[in-house]
Amino acid sequence: MCGTHDNITVAYETYSAELIAAGLLIPSGVPSVYGYSGVFENVIERFDALVTRAGAELKPEVMRFTPLLTRENYLRTDHLETFPNLMGSVHSFLGSEKELPELIRKRQQNEVWANDLGPTAVMLTPAVCYPLYPTASGTTLPTQGRLVDLRGFVFRHEPSPDPARLQMFRMHEFVRLGTPDQALDHRNYWLKKGEELLQSVGLDVKPVVANDPFFGRGGRVMAATQREQHLKYELIVPVATAEKPTAVASSNYHMDHFGHSFDIKSADGNVAHSACVGFGLERIALALFKTHGFDTTRWPSSVRQVMSL
Ligand code: ATP
Ligand code: ZN
Repeated sequence: MCGTHDNITVAYETYSAELIAAGLLIPSGVPSVYGYSGVFENVIERFDALVTRAGAELKPEVMRFTPLLTRENYLRTDHLETFPNLMGSVHSFLGSEKELPELIRKRQQNEVWANDLGPTAVMLTPAVCYPLYPTASGTTLPTQGRLVDLRGFVFRHEPSPDPARLQMFRMHEFVRLGTPDQALDHRNYWLKKGEELLQSVGLDVKPVVANDPFFGRGGRVMAATQREQHLKYELIVPVATAEKPTAVASSNYHMDHFGHSFDIKSADGNVAHSACVGFGLERIALALFKTHGFDTTRWPSSVRQVMSL
């Protein structure tokens, strides 16, 4: 067990070091938090635009949210129960002037000071589709359902030596709200379309049945059920190492999970079903740099053309 684990960790550290040496990643001093060079950002932006173009023919609504979700809406989901280890809660100093000297004293004496903070009205968004559902809450969808194009930063507390496992990263999603058939068709359409899109930029992706990393023993049961029912697929490709390919996109059928939590009805009066496809933009950039090299001017001309690089 340790042998393989070590190989993989070494591969993560090697690829990170190469990316940092090339100036593509700017280390922050904390694992899984980086800045990015202009070249890296350009690759993200060009691929992101390609995703937008791929979805445009379906005429989606476009919505953009900040990486903040209200605490109230967060608590309408079961994220706290299912992914407590990944959550990000925003806290600030809520005390009075009288209580400030104690906070300063703790900081100066290197004591734990964060316990003196209190929760604000917001959480960090764990997936870009989360802020969408509250906007549909209490509504009945039109017969054709809804299709929404979303992109933004999300937070997940999963520090790692893997440069493709970030604490904050960008996802471009298409979310479908509607009947079970509409949601399932969306999941299947994007599984195929996503594969074609990633292949068009030279990434040899493979679809695999996947599960969400639900927490704890109860979580293992949920993950097994999700896999048995083939609800979630990932498109995987080698990034740091071929030994453990990385999911660069996923396509997930939620059934009535969010429709139930947020009281969304489909036109037939039943609880709405939903599905989403998510492209992990930093991971896709990291896969492209691994596959085609660090110098984008030397990438295959077909790839440069598709991405308008
Ligand atoms: P993994 O199994 O690798 O943890 P996931 O199942 O948590 O991935 P999703 O929740 O389906 O991933 O998120 C959608 C997409 O976001 C993934 O396909 C991936 O491309 C990207 N992604 C997920 N977690 C991270 C992360 N920590 N850092 C960078 N990108 C990520
Ligand atoms: Zn994950």
